[in-house]
Amino acid sequence: MAKIVVIGSASMDLVVTAAKRPGAGETVLGDSFKTVPGGKGANQAVACARLGAEVTMVGCVGDDSFGKTILNNLQSNGVVTDYVEPVTGIESGTAHIILAEGDNSIVVVKAANDRITPAYVGQAAAVIKASDIVLIQQEIPEETVVHVSEICSKYHVPLMLNPAPARPVPSRVIEQAAYITPNEHEAAILFGDEPLSDVLRRYPNKLIVTEGKNGVRYFDGSQEVVVPGYQVEAVDTTGAGDTFNGAFAVALAEGMSITDSLRFANRAASLSVMRFGAQGGMPTRDEVEGSL
Ligand code: ATP
Repeated sequence: MAKIVVIGSASMDLVVTAAKRPGAGETVLGDSFKTVPGGKGANQAVACARLGAEVTMVGCVGDDSFGKTILNNLQSNGVVTDYVEPVTGIESGTAHIILAEGDNSIVVVKAANDRITPAYVGQAAAVIKASDIVLIQQEIPEETVVHVSEICSKYHVPLMLNPAPARPVPSRVIEQAAYITPNEHEAAILFGDEPLSDVLRRYPNKLIVTEGKNGVRYFDGSQEVVVPGYQVEAVDTTGAGDTFNGAFAVALAEGMSITDSLRFANRAASLSVMRFGAQGGMPTRDEVEGSL
């Protein structure tokens, strides 16, 4: 069984659906409202667990009702929560999501997720050392990302950085990470105006750029490779990237090649967009293998 540590945010998603997205100063009527557990860290942990990995999550929640729901949800999905601490006197992180006009827009309030400090993560060094791969995102402090990168490098554990939400990544982390998985927008924030093909060439078998329904692009050491996405009827793309990253990590940890891992991850992510919700849409192992 692949052993994966996911270090990142665990939040509640507050989701409204509306026919139209409001502009600045505008009020529109929505169609529905739901609260569902989310956060990139928790989403990726659940994605890995559904696909059959042994997953330990490292994160923080508030001492509020959202925190209890978030923890219960992780546990009921089989994620080990020994390192998910309820922090006194602070709210759980929240993501305020509008689904409108076939796409999502999101405001994230980090709250307890900002308590995932380098010292806090350091407590999990032994479990990090014993893992096959570590998965991290950017809804936690930058210094924590840097620290995790140092720990992984010291113990020779491959680190997968999903640089979302977009912010520049310290060059040391870019060098130390085994895999970096931005979408096109995040890649532009990381690497500026430089043509994508030049950047891909500089980070062979490391930089994997996701391109929505078109799939993913990377440089394999001799040529640029596109692993195409699967054509499906998308109903909710929230969490497509999280499913993709979780599935990619599971496949790599199990020893699949990069191309096979990307095919597996594209398939898993394509299944996830066919159902509502970030975690709600995440497929099981059987569903992915049955449709590859
Ligand atoms: P999100 O923020 O919506 O979770 P993202 O912007 O991080 O996603 P994308 O590049 O949009 O990342 O999507 C990640 C992967 O999910 C893609 O590489 C692809 O495999 C899959 N995917 C996304 N959208 C679709 C779609 N409409 N149909 C099929 N697969 C999709």
